[in-house]
Amino acid sequence: MIFKDKYQDLTEALRHVLGVKVEVRTVKSLSGGCINDAVLVTTSQGPFFMKWNRQEKYEMFLVEGKGLGLLKRHSQFVVPEVLGCGVVEDKSYLVLEFIESASPDKDYWGIMGRNLAGLHQNLSDSFGLTHNNFIGSLHQNNAKKQNWVDFFIENRLEAQLQLALNSGLITMEYLAGFRKVYSRFEDIFPPAQPSLLHGDLWSGNVMVGPNGLPVLIDPATYYGHREIEIAFTKLFGGFDQAFYESYQEAYPMETGFDQRVDLYNLYPLLVHLNLFGPSYLSGIDRTIRRFR
Ligand code: ADP
Repeated sequence: MIFKDKYQDLTEALRHVLGVKVEVRTVKSLSGGCINDAVLVTTSQGPFFMKWNRQEKYEMFLVEGKGLGLLKRHSQFVVPEVLGCGVVEDKSYLVLEFIESASPDKDYWGIMGRNLAGLHQNLSDSFGLTHNNFIGSLHQNNAKKQNWVDFFIENRLEAQLQLALNSGLITMEYLAGFRKVYSRFEDIFPPAQPSLLHGDLWSGNVMVGPNGLPVLIDPATYYGHREIEIAFTKLFGGFDQAFYESYQEAYPMETGFDQRVDLYNLYPLLVHLNLFGPSYLSGIDRTIRRFR
């Protein structure tokens, strides 16, 4: 992202969010973000974390802020304070409290498991959320449903399958084959009350923050089956065994999860297919062949 007039846009954004005049001193690019430009801005008012994108992504930042707010209010996790978002010139931005990273506490994974169990103990009477949001840069439909199987099929799998179909990543025949697994869902997914989820919990969306505690960032929050969150932590690895043990102790899961895990991960794999291309099809195929 190009900041013209030596940070004029940054200065204006921060003045808007903080309500006071701010002198920007340094701007440092932070790696790790897949979607947005992320920077550490040091100012006369202290350090801030800012994300930038094109103007039309304003909605994405607005709902990311709402998701962070939900996680902060409903869990023991450290979650960055949302200071505000807006549009300046032709760019949209989100301003968060800057979290200084540290080395992990010796019980880091235990704390992570207990805190996630605590988050998941926030229950709702329907799956979904009061507003839609985004998974990566893709739209996520949170229209409420009473039944997990309906929600998972219609709001999650079919939404991504239609995207993949429209962009030519899959064919109608492929779609018909995929849909054959749906008949297995009623028997396989154990009944659950909808739990508040982070919604995009992979190791890149957890930071080690002050005092070595886990910090949640970049959520795609909704009320869902808590097993889908645990399944996703296993898709790309990076979570220690101590995390699973402490989660299980704090909020035991139904037996047989290992047999269901790949079905839940059809959703993130379809998201990755749409975001990053056909290399994710083989993983999807393996699961489909196993279950249909
Ligand atoms: P993207 O939306 O592009 O995926 P992220 O939210 O993942 O961006 O942020 C990019 C990187 O910036 C993260 O990997 C993390 O290291 C760092 N980061 C995110 N939020 C904060 C914060 N509040 N304070 C400090 N660093 C942060």
